Parts: sequence; structure tokens; C-alpha cells
Amino acid sequence: MSENENKNPTNFVKQIIEEDIKNRKNDSRVHTRFPPEPNGYLHIGHAKSICLNFGVASEYNGLCNLRFDDTNPTKEEQEYVDSISEDVRWLGFDWEDREYYASNYFQKLYEYAVQLIKAGKAFVCDLTADQMREYRGTLKEPGQDSPYRNRSVEENIDLFERMKNGEFEDGSHTLRAKIDMSSGNINMRDPVFYRIQRSTHHRTGDEWCIYPMYDYAHCVSDSIEGITHSLCTLEFEDHRPLYDWFLDQLNVFHTHQIEFARLNISHAVLSKRKLLQLVQENYVNGWDDPRMLTISGMRRRGYTPASIRKFCERIGVAKADSTVDMALLEYSIREDLNKSAPRVMSVLRPLKIIITNYPEGQTDDLDAINNPEDPGAGTRKVPFSKIIYIERDDFMEDPPKKFFRLAPGREVRLRYAYFITCVDVVKDDNGEVSELHCTYDPETRGGDAPDGRKVKATLHWVSDEHSLEAEVRIYEHLFEKADPDNPKDEADFKSYLNPNSLTVLDGCRVEPSLAGAEPGSRFQFERLGYFSVDSDSSDDKLVFNRTVTLKDTWKKIQKAKKQ
Ligand code: ATP
Ligand code: MG
Repeated sequence: MSENENKNPTNFVKQIIEEDIKNRKNDSRVHTRFPPEPNGYLHIGHAKSICLNFGVASEYNGLCNLRFDDTNPTKEEQEYVDSISEDVRWLGFDWEDREYYASNYFQKLYEYAVQLIKAGKAFVCDLTADQMREYRGTLKEPGQDSPYRNRSVEENIDLFERMKNGEFEDGSHTLRAKIDMSSGNINMRDPVFYRIQRSTHHRTGDEWCIYPMYDYAHCVSDSIEGITHSLCTLEFEDHRPLYDWFLDQLNVFHTHQIEFARLNISHAVLSKRKLLQLVQENYVNGWDDPRMLTISGMRRRGYTPASIRKFCERIGVAKADSTVDMALLEYSIREDLNKSAPRVMSVLRPLKIIITNYPEGQTDDLDAINNPEDPGAGTRKVPFSKIIYIERDDFMEDPPKKFFRLAPGREVRLRYAYFITCVDVVKDDNGEVSELHCTYDPETRGGDAPDGRKVKATLHWVSDEHSLEAEVRIYEHLFEKADPDNPKDEADFKSYLNPNSLTVLDGCRVEPSLAGAEPGSRFQFERLGYFSVDSDSSDDKLVFNRTVTLKDTWKKIQKAKKQ
């Protein structure tokens, strides 16, 4: 894929911006915004939007605002505002003092609405929601004018003010734009842009009982902030005529809305509503469950901000919807951690080995390389002793032909340590292998035999006496099906949850250099993958998340495609 990885690949959004700069539109200013609704935690799809908005702003010496689109008081909460701010900052973006809220503009939005009424462009309607649906028409048939459409300006002003003052029941009146009930675009059929809703807003409390709708609040907020390019996802394409209509009627600064394709990832759902359902119904352990593709879940899983930014750069920005394979996301973190993560040895499913000819009570401090990709990372000492552990599946009593690891009578290398030979297999009452007796060759210290004899396998290991106990959480995709929320599928997306998405391994052993490892720190466990220390770790027990395996499936997929 390297041929596509020029530093700042272009895309159609950048081409539009460059054209605007060339034509000195808005004095060649570039000002974008990231406009989350604080009704859930951010996910990797939002990261695409964040990287795009902050990215183009910085590339063209512009600015990017963080704006909370908080016009729906029933679903929005301060908890979400806080988590969103934290996540955007963690991803590496800075909105300086430009933190805005659509709710800051409630007064201004109200005044503009009055202006539209005065211009004969809006009216108060008494139809119920059901009636309104009947009047709206269908894709094939035009709608019908509301019987309240021709109220006088005076009556509309009076009614709208009384809506605001709380004189009417929720849902009894709305303010609608007076556009065209026969428009081929249903969004233009006199859309509602204010509704009565008595619920406490997380910032404005009970000051308002009328709230503006998204299509009105968003374009006006963009205009107030002087946003030059309002980047949003494709589903708003059909709303653009309305976006433009409001700004034209109000005769205010006209932001240009540009739509791009939203990110979909295989084996995942990226809709806040669905993620919320997984959290509330306890299918996962909270918004930051490492199986979730929320930013907080990915952070906990061990993803780095750089790997997420790189991923967003790789997927690019296009006009057509598509689904990105989860393997590409994994490729991005693997590539980053390969360069930066210190290597350590850990054993997830320990099998005990007694080195029968090793002196009792002796310890050998062996030199181990911290990161072969980074010579500056240096070396460390790893203690070796008479009792060690290897991975249970690195031993087979009766190995098939292609199994080159430890077996009775066979010699293998212990990484950085010695050659050992298995001389005896001890079993418990159930016939399970409970320990191995091996001999070691002291001449092979460091991992090579002076007589030049070879072994076919090198195993990782830890010393019984020196290693630390750990819990390790191994993850698979949260969903078994590649497209769990395919709209054509009648089954509930939750029916595709993967029952094996989480495996908790207790009684794992990790090398002593990991003592006191801070939550969030990342390591490569040799031969096992990349792991990060979970926030559930305590002084008594380290807890690790497997971020990703070592095996790259992305390149394999690419290769298969080329063939
Ligand atoms: P969801 O569908 O997950 O609930 P949303 O669009 O309702 O997302 P918002 O908080 O309104 O969430 O989104 C903030 C910004 O992020 C919007 O500009 C939106 O278009 C963008 N965004 C949301 N989901 C994606 C996605 N999957 N890919 C790219 N951009 C996205
Ligand atoms: Mg939205």
C-alpha cells in the first residue's frame, strides 16, 4: 500500500477547498468545525470526521471549532460533553478557546425565527404529528398545504411567542418553514424547525420549552461561527437545499455544506444509538469496553492516537459509501506498536518445567533486547532459574510432523537463555500433563551452541520465582457477522454478537520487569501480540488487554485481492 501513502493525500474535499482559496472565496479563509451531539461517546467514525475537520483546517492555516450540537435536551448529558472533549484532545487535536454550543445560540436562533415569520417564510402549525405525516405526501405524491399555512404574520408572531412562553402543550404546535409542499425533496415540504418540548436541558436548564431542529440550528450555528466549509456525512445531502434555504432567507454568512461518506467497519456497529443499547443492556462493560470501537474503548484496548490518525489518513475521504475491513485498523496499530512497544516475555497458559540439572537456588540474569526495531531502547536483564514456565501449547506429547516445538526427547531454545531437552513428562490424575522435566546445556547460555548444533524452535518463558501473576483479556471481534447492521437484514444486530469476543485468562505469568507498569502502557509479549495495561490493574495483580495479535491479516487480504 506504500505507493498511496504520500504525506498528505488529496481528496475531493481538499480539492473544493483549494479551489475556494484560489478564487479568494471568504478571503481564502478556511474554518471548519467538528459538531458532535453530546448523546453518546465518540467512535472511530467520529475520528474520521475529527481528523478531516481538524486536518484540513491545519493544512490550510485555518481554524477548527469544537461545537456541541445540543438541541435535543432529552438525550444529551454533561457526561458526554466531558468524554467527547477528552477524546478529541487525546486524538491530538486542539480547539483552543473555540468550544461552542448550539445552545449558546438559542436566543439568536429564536430571533432569526421571528425574522423568518416577519418575512412570511414561517408559520405556526397546529397539526399533530400524525396529521402532519398524512399531509406530507410520499416520494411519489406531493403533500398538501397545512390548513394553518396562511395565518397572518401578526398571528404567527403572537403564537410563536406564546409557544416560547409555555402556554401550549408539548407537541400541540410547531413552527414550520413555508417552502413548497409539492417539492420533490420531502425535506423541503414545509419542514418543522421548532417544537415544544418540556425537558430540562443540560446547560440551559428550564429556560426554554421550545427547541430548534437540527436542520435549522446547524446551518445557523455554522453561519454565526463563520464556518467556511461544513463537512458532514452523506445522509445530509438531501438536506442541503434546506440548509441553503435558511441561510438565503436570513441573508446571513453562507457556509458551504459538503458531504462525504461515513465510515463503516466490518464486524462492528458504529451508531451511537446501537452502541448505547449494547452499554445499557450490558452486552459490554461500558462505553470504554475494549471490544467497542469507541475512542475510549480503543484507548483502553491499547490503540495509540497516532495509529488512529494514520488509519483515518489511509481510508481517505470519498463520496461513496463503503465498508473498511477491521484488519486495516489492526494493521495500523500493529505497525505503530512494532516501532514503539518494548518486548517482554509472558506466558498466558503456563506449563511448569523443572530443569533437573540446574542448581537449586541459583539465578541467571540474562540479557534481553528491548526492541529490535529501536536500537536506542537498549537491553534488560531477565532472570532464569530452576523452575520456569512455557506456553502450554508449545509442548506436545505426541507431535504431528510439522510441530517443531517442545516434545519428549526434543531440544529447543529458550529465548535469550539456554537449549533445553525434555526428558520426562509428568501427568496429574486426569492424565493431563502437569509438568515437564528438562535438562539444560550450560554451554548454550545466551541462545547458541558452541558446537554449532541447531534447534528448530525458540520458545518464550518466565521464571517461576521471579515472574508476576497477571490476568490477560483476549478479544475477538464483537460481532461474528461482517455486517451486523445491514439494513436489509431483518434480524436484530445483537443476534450476531460473538459469544467468544472476550476470554479472560487468569494465572498468567509475566516477567518481573513489568512490575509497576502503568495503566495504558503498551508492550509486545513475544510471540503473543501487543498488550496494554488495563485500568483494572492493582498493586497485587496486573491486568492486560491484548490490543492486537502479531499476525497480519491485512497484507494477506491485499495479496489475495491482487491474485
Ligand atoms: P451516529 O450515527 O453514530 O449516532 P451521528 O452522526 O449521530 O453519529 P454526531 O454526534 O451527530 O453523531 O456526529 C458528529 C459528526 O461526526 C457529524 O459531522 C457526523 O456526520 C460525523 N460522523 C458520525 N458518524 C460518522 C461516521 N461513521 N463516519 C464519519 N463521520 C461520522
Ligand atoms: Mg447526528
